[in-house]
Amino acid sequence: MLIDSHAHLDDERFDKDRDRLIKSLKESGIDLIINPGSDLGSSIKAVSLSEQYDNIYAAVGVHPHSAKEMDESTIEVLKSFTNRDKVVAIGEIGLDYYYDNSPREIQRQKFVEQLELAKEVNLPVIIHTRDAAQETFDILKEAQDGSLKGVLHCYSGSVEMALEYVKMGFYISLGGPITFKNARVSREVAKAVPIDRLLIETDSPYLTPEPYRGKRNEPLFVRYVAGTIAEIRGINFDELAKETSENAKRLFRIA
Ligand SMILES: [Zn+2]
Ligand SMILES: [Zn+2]
Repeated sequence: MLIDSHAHLDDERFDKDRDRLIKSLKESGIDLIINPGSDLGSSIKAVSLSEQYDNIYAAVGVHPHSAKEMDESTIEVLKSFTNRDKVVAIGEIGLDYYYDNSPREIQRQKFVEQLELAKEVNLPVIIHTRDAAQETFDILKEAQDGSLKGVLHCYSGSVEMALEYVKMGFYISLGGPITFKNARVSREVAKAVPIDRLLIETDSPYLTPEPYRGKRNEPLFVRYVAGTIAEIRGINFDELAKETSENAKRLFRIA
């Protein structure tokens, strides 16, 4: 059984078939899904999905794209959800200097505020970073007081930085891009990260792996991510599935 550690099933692209899709996951070999929020509205949707379905867990947080929409009350509202049983992380949070949908200064400020929230409520973080590798690293290093846990989702950075993150106590999650032909560095990362720090994900509905690239992504396709990593590491599929599922349960404290 596989765990898709990052899927946005609250996305409107699942409105037509969400219920059918979620109910068919078990028979397709997908044990659990972690559904992160990307703004306040989607965080609330993620929480309600997690309360509606046994196999969905939620994270609450505001993505750097929406950082500019956060006001004084947002952190308190996020915090109010963190005592729900199935809210297992703060995320996704981080920096995105590729799209720059929010001013960088605001992105940094809101990232740090949400890291502080995670420490306060003792939950791991789900980190999004694009075109901001060094600043993301510096902020996490600064915030790491020994208590911070988390995952770099859909990691696309260097091998060296991945290993630094591992040293700092973080997990590395790989998604659909690992299946692309030009994924040279990601393939090295997949090989270099210790097996007990590796997670897999889809980031559905985005980043669809081969052979379905171009279509809507869905949690079922996490098997292609798993299959590719197993092949790169020279281990069998079941072992990779078992290890990455144990890792996700350990990080998100799912019994
Ligand atoms: Zn992301
Ligand atoms: Zn995402």
